[in-house]
Amino acid sequence: MTFKELGLESSLLEALSYMGFEKATPIQEQAIPVILDNKDILACAQTGTGKTAAFILPILNKLCDSSTNQINTLVIAPTRELALQIDQQIQAFAYFVNATSIPVYGGGDGSDFESQKRAIRKGTDILVATPGKLISHLNMGYVDFSKLEHLILDEADRMLDMGFYDDIMRIVGFLPKDRQTLMFSATMPPKIRKLAKSILLQPVEISLAISKPAEGVLQAAYLAYDHQKASLLKNLIADKPSYSSIIVFASTKKKVSELVRALSGQGYKVEAVSSDLDQKDREAALRRFKSSETRVLVATDVLSRGIDIKGINLVVNYDVPGDAEDYVHRIGRTARADSTGVALTIINPEDMAKFARIESLIEMKVPKLDVPVELGESPEWATRPVRRAGTGSKFRRPGRKGMDRKKDRRHRGKFSKKKN
Ligand code: AMP
Repeated sequence: MTFKELGLESSLLEALSYMGFEKATPIQEQAIPVILDNKDILACAQTGTGKTAAFILPILNKLCDSSTNQINTLVIAPTRELALQIDQQIQAFAYFVNATSIPVYGGGDGSDFESQKRAIRKGTDILVATPGKLISHLNMGYVDFSKLEHLILDEADRMLDMGFYDDIMRIVGFLPKDRQTLMFSATMPPKIRKLAKSILLQPVEISLAISKPAEGVLQAAYLAYDHQKASLLKNLIADKPSYSSIIVFASTKKKVSELVRALSGQGYKVEAVSSDLDQKDREAALRRFKSSETRVLVATDVLSRGIDIKGINLVVNYDVPGDAEDYVHRIGRTARADSTGVALTIINPEDMAKFARIESLIEMKVPKLDVPVELGESPEWATRPVRRAGTGSKFRRPGRKGMDRKKDRRHRGKFSKKKN
């Protein structure tokens, strides 16, 4: 379906055509008419589906003729990166529309707070904020939500995971009851339904394939011991110029720093993004990565959700993420909006059961590959930590092992040398 068929104003159609958006994505096709019809929405859609435009476009459409520079729409997002990115998308779509937006997030110095305060006082149509920083401004008493018509919660499940439930409810307490509320979440656990019940009014439910990696992501996993991981990573990215933009996810800030040190020692243009960096440094690192000055970005899960970077061709999970949903988010960094990409996960014996849970969430078996021969023996794929008497073996092999391994061999040539 085209955006024109969705009934959007010509000023938005012009911006969309400049941006090269030809057809609406499924979430846009389903959500835009409902939002234009002023109904509440509870939408289950993962990042990479075009969900940001799905809520921004109809809001801007309503603002086309009615920009008042008083807060009409509040978008709440879990992280500063996501808030900034949503704000940037608004700026792009609103290029020919007389509507304004400002981002409000923490992580900077006191002068950032002051400039956000000035901008809020001056007035804006759309405020995009992270919960904590918005509360700080609300406590100062100058945020005027009396003209607010729309509340949008993006990545609601992530916000609850980060412990923002109380903050969200406090913010909602400041808003007019008569408003349109749109809630977007990658997953629909019971706590999301509970939140939805308390802040949405007879929402239209929209659900796109839950917890499935975007099509176009080629997935594989390497079975490796911890001492093999660093060499394996080096091997995965060495001499592969087609992987021009690579994200490596590690579970801790410490590992992120270690990997950055190791990779830069090997001559890679590599940078880190973790909560150890202050906001300005994180943004600068992201900018350099987006503009291809940096080839490899090593990050914690601070970057796994929502962040939109085009042209990433390889995602490496240096560790298996603790939360199965995070796997979907992490590998969603590649193959965004119709492109293709590769996602590789390194699994040590301790993480095998965790990875099996991921496979049951995504309802598919990811091909398991052995590490290249020169790195030594790979551990066996085993998911049940049952100690068997007399064998000394910590793991029992799952019944399907033989079958999986046979199937995996077909994929192996693609990624690593065959084991002799
Ligand atoms: P999101 O799911 O909002 O993070 O969007 C993922 C990516 O898809 C972003 O780079 C968008 O700019 C892009 N995108 C969104 N809608 C469309 C569309 N209709 N056509 C092409 N690209 C799109």
